[in-house]
Amino acid sequence: MELGKRRFSIGLTGGIGSGKTTVANMFAERGAALIDTDLIAHQLTAPGGGAIPEIHAQFGAAFLTAEGALDRSRMRQFVFSDPQAKSRLEAILHPLIRIETERAADTAHAAQAAYLIFVVPLLVESSGWKARVSRVLVVDCSEETQVRRVISRSGLPEPQVRAIMAAQATRAQRLAAADDVIDNDRDTAALEPQVDKLHLLYSRLARE
Ligand code: ATP
Repeated sequence: MELGKRRFSIGLTGGIGSGKTTVANMFAERGAALIDTDLIAHQLTAPGGGAIPEIHAQFGAAFLTAEGALDRSRMRQFVFSDPQAKSRLEAILHPLIRIETERAADTAHAAQAAYLIFVVPLLVESSGWKARVSRVLVVDCSEETQVRRVISRSGLPEPQVRAIMAAQATRAQRLAAADDVIDNDRDTAALEPQVDKLHLLYSRLARE
């Protein structure tokens, strides 16, 4: 059975620092079930995670930390300069993320919710995801706002933030893929009415 086709589901996406987590939590408060693919990817690459044996086998112990997690910064540097390594890592991670995502969508908690929200940072970049969800919701803000938020949250230097953004879909590409858009260029209070309106729409569509 295709993931997400069983239930009415939203694919929530947006660039780094756009406010995906903030917005997703507001939908959860209103009764949506959240499935965060980033969190799933982190769990798979934590010590004892399901992706660790294959990462070890293909990349070697040098890419694991002393605790046995994926050494994320080392791997990030490596795949940045080697697109083939990036594909190999994705070939390990993507099927596992898919299995765990399906498992999360099948839990009792998700079954009771009005609808599902998959939080997928790179949804627009991945053809599979767009096909699997009922609607694509983009959290949108200006690039300047993204840079400011990421720097204040993580302390990353601006060139590094801009490099991450350059490797993601552009704002225009994301907006072109959107069924619905939430404008997150203002304060969080400005999100409430937008989330309320979409929650009503999604609850109605989920019943149809
Ligand atoms: P990432 O892709 O980097 O995980 P994200 O898209 O999930 O980020 P959030 O974590 O929700 O984004 O938000 C990024 C940062 O900006 C957080 O520190 C969050 O508290 C803050 N933030 C989000 N929206 C707003 C807003 N409207 N006003 C002020 N701060 C905000």
